[in-house]
Amino acid sequence: MIGNITIDGPSGSGKSTIAKAIAKELNIIYLDTGAMYRGVGYYVVSKGIDPADEEGVLAVLDQIDMDIKYVDGEQKVIICGEDVTPYIREHNISMAASTVSKIPAVRLKLVELQRKIASKTDCVIDGRDIGSYVLPQAKNKFYMTATDEVRAKRRHLELVDKGVNISYEEVLEDIRKRDKQDSTRAFAPLVIPEGATVIDTSDMTIEEVLARIKESIKC
Ligand code: C5P
Repeated sequence: MIGNITIDGPSGSGKSTIAKAIAKELNIIYLDTGAMYRGVGYYVVSKGIDPADEEGVLAVLDQIDMDIKYVDGEQKVIICGEDVTPYIREHNISMAASTVSKIPAVRLKLVELQRKIASKTDCVIDGRDIGSYVLPQAKNKFYMTATDEVRAKRRHLELVDKGVNISYEEVLEDIRKRDKQDSTRAFAPLVIPEGATVIDTSDMTIEEVLARIKESIKC
């Protein structure tokens, strides 16, 4: 049993690419917790609620019956029986997810589901508070980062590939806004977890990051 492997870090640091690759190699599941916050952000926006309206979000929180499923190895976010995965990567949902994630009741609800999944099966689990708050006892913790510019460049390429018409400058501004919001919130902010191996991926290839993580994993 390898146990759970946590990977935290800001957006564009390469977490999901690496987490997916490690999970595949170890034949364990990859749990993308950002997708869960995106699910809540999407639900709230789809109900016409401003994600910053805490009372409005709290009023519908109990309606959000979330489930995580895997279809052909791909994670699906199911809300009230509907697969919302196709909609949660929209650009406006990134900020909505970050805004609703400041609300402690939203976090507690998702953390409960994350802990439940991680207690049943070994996973590579990525997010912002996994090694610091969700699974602080995990023995393999990583924190990935990169400069703002490198992260914005990666995210911009991803969005352009998807056909989104957005400038690099806009992406850089969004990333900085989101980082600030994620690392300054009062409850479970983005921090380097105690005991985490920190990897700055700015000048590293995916293969180099993978090698670094694999050599650090303790069984
Ligand atoms: O990782 P991703 O960019 O998909 O996450 C979307 C947002 O969800 C983040 O900006 C962050 O605000 C929030 N999040 C969080 N805690 C996590 C994972 C994501 O607050 N564990």
